[in-house]
Amino acid sequence: MAEKITVEELLARNKIVMASHTPAPTFQFLAENQIAVAKTLVVACVDPRSDPSYILGLKFGEAGILRNIGGQVKPLLNDILALDNLITFEQVMIIHHTDCGSTHFTNEQVRGVLTQRDPQAAAEMNVESVDFGAVSNLPDSVVRDVKFLKEHKLMREELKENIKGYLYDIEKGSLEEISG
Ligand SMILES: [Zn+2]
Repeated sequence: MAEKITVEELLARNKIVMASHTPAPTFQFLAENQIAVAKTLVVACVDPRSDPSYILGLKFGEAGILRNIGGQVKPLLNDILALDNLITFEQVMIIHHTDCGSTHFTNEQVRGVLTQRDPQAAAEMNVESVDFGAVSNLPDSVVRDVKFLKEHKLMREELKENIKGYLYDIEKGSLEEISG
């Protein structure tokens, strides 16, 4: 897929981007001009094959996007709550994808590597009880994440009704809604 690329090359690209950059609006500008901010939150995997802008054909500013390993909501809960406080989202799409890296390792493997690297630090951080995001069943992980947000006491009730989960097929490009 991607060629190896250095930070220096990426910084050089930024100079090119900067040359034609138009200033992005500030929150103050948006408020003063009554321009609505995106009311859709998309949660997806960091995997480049699972890029929500590509999958959903998003134009600039059409959605807030949070990404982590697998597109798993639990480690993102604080971000979701804080962003919803600021933005007041109307809908949430949780997108997991086929062949996700999270299905190619286990929590036990990560714990083993970290413990071998520094047993004392691993013990101090209690890595044996840490969930590193390994997934064993993909449709189930979507159901689990939708359920987690819908049942979380700190989530806003109106938003809970508009949380949907999907499995994205990296071969077909299709999104399948997964309901629990
Ligand atoms: Zn993934």
